[in-house]
Amino acid sequence: MQLTTIIGAQWGDEGKGKITDFFARDAAYVVRFQGGNNAGHTLVVDGRTYKLHLIPSGVLYSGAISVIGSGVVVDPAVLLEEIKKLKEQGVTVRLKISNRAHLIMPYHIAVDGALTRHQGELAAGSTNRGIAPAYADKAYRHGLRVGDLLEPEMFKEKLRGAYLFNRDLLTKVFNTPLAESEESIVEKYLAYGQELKEYIGDTDLELYLAFKDGKKMLFEGAQGMSLDLDYGVYPHTTSSSTLASHIGVGTGVGYNIAGRVIGIVKAYVSRVGTSPFVTEIEGEEAETLRKKGQEYGTTTGRPRRVGYLDLVQVRQAVRANGLTELALTKADILTIFSQIKICTAYKIGDKTVTEMPASLSQLRLAQPIYQTFEGWQNLTDTTNNFNALPESFKKYINFIEKETNCPIKIISLGPEREKTIIR
Ligand code: GDP
Repeated sequence: MQLTTIIGAQWGDEGKGKITDFFARDAAYVVRFQGGNNAGHTLVVDGRTYKLHLIPSGVLYSGAISVIGSGVVVDPAVLLEEIKKLKEQGVTVRLKISNRAHLIMPYHIAVDGALTRHQGELAAGSTNRGIAPAYADKAYRHGLRVGDLLEPEMFKEKLRGAYLFNRDLLTKVFNTPLAESEESIVEKYLAYGQELKEYIGDTDLELYLAFKDGKKMLFEGAQGMSLDLDYGVYPHTTSSSTLASHIGVGTGVGYNIAGRVIGIVKAYVSRVGTSPFVTEIEGEEAETLRKKGQEYGTTTGRPRRVGYLDLVQVRQAVRANGLTELALTKADILTIFSQIKICTAYKIGDKTVTEMPASLSQLRLAQPIYQTFEGWQNLTDTTNNFNALPESFKKYINFIEKETNCPIKIISLGPEREKTIIR
């Protein structure tokens, strides 16, 4: 297939990095189309560990060009730091950045913190990297774009209004000073532009030509289904569309052919931040799962909330993204339990609901309806073909496929590349 897409089917942190890595090796282009440096993959390639937040994982493969599409918001300071670290690790950075991608500015980061305090209970759970305010300024039509970094006069002209707006928002509405002066932003950002110059261009046109030329492309989604701005658990979502259908918008190409759209499903669920979480578990069981699954924030180290697999969530991911298949990850972690629960529907009042409700108040009331399965504690390290899997595990896989109407074609049983079953 010419086009492959990797999408998180839950709350992010499903293990997209490993599956992306699988396909990135064969791709001519590895493309990000939404989000910003609020994403994070941990990749182990040839025994070395790389941490990426903004740059697509294609950067680790000499054959691929990594593209930051126009739908991404870019913090140039963070990007330059990431490029520097990769170069220090001996990586040749083959990167293209869309001149239409919007910039995260210093005031966006300040506004992000103030907004989270203002929103209280209904806060999105922002990572405070300025991503939502950057998208908001884009919609206000006073955002600055990557291409502006190369046009000093245009940059200054656009910055004037954006700076005053954000300064007044901070000082007059939120009573928060803005430390950075307009002049200092101009100086810093134009310098960033010079450093990034070689990477900036019309990525939409380049991707179109490559697509027409039959080049293989991998689209790397960030975050996941329930964090999607429109169809996730709003307002506890990210500030961009995480859906596969956003790829055209976020890269500027109309790909009018079918491709593989792979939804990454972790065998249990983890969640950072507040929102209803229907299958959440607490206490000792949660602690054991969190430890074994290493469910702690990559940058903050904060424990993530954990729970059982929720098929209401995965069902929504299948239809909203047009998933052609699922990749099941981290089922090896569940060997700690003798019995495994899967949530098949929600009980809301006296109703049984099998599809994700839009209403936050309904979600707050939802109780999980579980089906219990025998575990697979007899799974061994060396199991690497489907037929050799414990019967109980195969039953669990078949059940998920039937309930979601989507085949599980990849089963990941460890962080290493070899620990993967392809069906
Ligand atoms: P992403 O946010 O979805 O990209 O998540 P990451 O790619 O950062 O994955 C989270 C962690 O899970 C990483 O440390 C991976 O190495 C690890 N991981 C991925 N797949 C598996 C798996 O099947 N089993 C285990 N035990 N770990 C895995």
